[in-house]
Amino acid sequence: MQYLPQLIFILLTITAVYLFSKKAKQIKRNIFLGRDEEINDNKNLRWKNVLLLAFGQKKMFKNPLVAVMHFFVYAGFIIINIEVLEIVLDGILGTHRLFAKPLGNFYTLLINAFEILAVLVIIFCATFLIRRNIIKLKRFASKDLNGWPRSDANYILITEIILMFLFLKMNACDTLLQSRGYGHYGETLTGNFIISSNYHFILQNFSNQSLVWFERTCWWVHITGIFIFLNYLPYSKHLHILLAFPNAYYARLIPQGKMKNMPDIQNEVLYAMQPELAPTEPSTEHKKFGAKDVFDLSWKNLLDAYSCTECGRCTAACPANITGKLLSPRTIMMKTRDRLEEIGKNINVHKIFTDDNKSLLHNYISVEELRACTTCNACVEACPVSISPLDIITQLRRYLIMEESNAPQEWNSMFSSIENNFAPWKFSPDERDKWVSES
Ligand code: SF4
Ligand code: SF4
Repeated sequence: MQYLPQLIFILLTITAVYLFSKKAKQIKRNIFLGRDEEINDNKNLRWKNVLLLAFGQKKMFKNPLVAVMHFFVYAGFIIINIEVLEIVLDGILGTHRLFAKPLGNFYTLLINAFEILAVLVIIFCATFLIRRNIIKLKRFASKDLNGWPRSDANYILITEIILMFLFLKMNACDTLLQSRGYGHYGETLTGNFIISSNYHFILQNFSNQSLVWFERTCWWVHITGIFIFLNYLPYSKHLHILLAFPNAYYARLIPQGKMKNMPDIQNEVLYAMQPELAPTEPSTEHKKFGAKDVFDLSWKNLLDAYSCTECGRCTAACPANITGKLLSPRTIMMKTRDRLEEIGKNINVHKIFTDDNKSLLHNYISVEELRACTTCNACVEACPVSISPLDIITQLRRYLIMEESNAPQEWNSMFSSIENNFAPWKFSPDERDKWVSES
């Protein structure tokens, strides 16, 4: 009976870690359903990107106030995990504040810092909730967030606030019991904490037993909440907390405006100009141009889809969206992720992917959305986590044009002019200089 809480805690921890690693493996498998793309050049610059873009959140500082708030919420989340480590060890070993004695005064300093962070997290999460639900910023009020995506953001913010309150209340009860010299609490002399100890007056009239009950309840709910949060992450846009780091490492290093060429097409043009270079044996392999489904996108495109925070900065910067077109780069990323998750579930059930007669192109992303893109790159520039919705758009559009010959009449005239006249206009190349003649 004495070891029952430890046993329950160990079972809870094993279950939480097992479920999280199972889902993490599925996400990794889903990402690598994408086609291969070699990205391992310029390692120094890539590590610099991890430091600046992921840790430093450099792009967020375009709006310093929001960046500072986001940074504290994020830092609070990361740093408070040190405190979670102590909670987990206490739960497994049946100890109480394991680090307090060995760390001495430094321990009190650490918990004080965590408490300040906890208060900042509460204030800033509440501000984010107000921005989303009361002020209703345009990029959070748009229709593409209706339903689950909007609730997801609210759930996480509310959960963070609750977790921080539990942490503060647990500390308040603990230090009050210490000051009363009660049981093993009396032996853990951490001293008062900077925030929570100010609330002793609210708890003063409670008996020692009630305080122990409060403290233990906060401890259990706090750690159970963290385990639930851990397992909720893979289903949420907040997966970016983890994936922003690999995504920053594998970020595109070539200049933003530079388009990726298709080597197969380049070769076709080359062989047309220099037939002597063409292979003597015609290839029997059917090459697909562009992308129809997530399998045709690269693993980096799919990592992008899982890393998207759904912040909408890309959509707010998109000229097509601003001028009322159907296109929203945020929705492109959300739909890519939805399709990938659907395929993942299909594989979970059938062991291998079983054709479901659907594809990312048409079933998820429409021709109208794709045609609206001006390829201006504003979405890529605006994204704080180095995602390129444009890369997915161009690949789907290439499939549309080159595999389905699906283009508006105006584009077809332009294509045939390029093919015949080497320019988008309907003039013969021989007449190209005519405009300079005086007549
Ligand atoms: S590249 Fe396309 S999707 Fe991105 S901002 Fe420009 S128009 Fe919008
Ligand atoms: S692609 Fe980038 S900017 Fe757009 S919603 Fe996702 S994280 Fe935000």
